Amino acid sequence: MAEPVFQAIGLYKHFAGVRATDGVDLAVQPGEFRAIIGPNGAGKSTLFNLITGFLKPDRGRILFEGQPISGLAPYVLFRRGISRTFQITNLMADLTVLENVQVALLSWEGRLLKLFQRAAGACLEDSRALLELVGLRGLEARLAGTLSHGDMKRLELAVALANRPRLLLLDEPTAGMAAGERLESIRMVHQIARARGLTVIFTEHDMQVVFAVADRISVLHQGRILTEGAPEAVRASPEVQAIYLGADALGLEG
Ligand code: ADP
Ligand code: MG
Repeated sequence: MAEPVFQAIGLYKHFAGVRATDGVDLAVQPGEFRAIIGPNGAGKSTLFNLITGFLKPDRGRILFEGQPISGLAPYVLFRRGISRTFQITNLMADLTVLENVQVALLSWEGRLLKLFQRAAGACLEDSRALLELVGLRGLEARLAGTLSHGDMKRLELAVALANRPRLLLLDEPTAGMAAGERLESIRMVHQIARARGLTVIFTEHDMQVVFAVADRISVLHQGRILTEGAPEAVRASPEVQAIYLGADALGLEG
């Protein structure tokens, strides 16, 4: 097996007695599309915040491309090639669609301060290319805050791709979308990731979405990885069925 591109080893994060992350080990191979599933409160967002530098682990190690990254600030990790989207949007609502991507590109290039001096010319071509990639062509001039929910998610993806990440984390990328929109949306991400050799870790409640794209699934429960494996193995696991998801949620009969 190849060297994992990402590894968490014995990761702990407790909040005043709540064991949000309680000894997580995780290894993800280059180019893998990995789903992290588990009920609300399982610790998925906390794990993502630890990986992306928004929280510091109490204990444990995180390696990216073999290098230790625990405790590094989010912007450092962003520069290094780790990007993310949030469960709750962090777009700049009063900027246009195009400007949101421009800001991300400039911030990656370390030229943020010049943005407002040089105004709109900056990174125009790259920004437009990213918007085209995620299917937002024609919406460049719209204020981000006026987009539909699905288009906001597309824009968040464009912003997250601005640093040409090698690892992308998506926290509930289809939350709030209509059922029909979810599959289309995750397939777009999947396609882009495949084309770019991007490694993706995502959390998701909709099992149809998970099974459509995940190479492997890790089941998180009470801050620990309960089980992990190929989609069919996880789907068939009586432990997973009985305790966490229920046969219905896994799309099984009866
Ligand atoms: P998930 O994303 O799987 O729903 P979270 O990581 O958001 O789970 O939460 C895991 C547990 O940690 C929950 O019990 C939650 O209430 C708690 N938690 C998360 N963040 C904090 C925080 N900043 N302060 C205190 N408790 C937190
Ligand atoms: Mg969450």
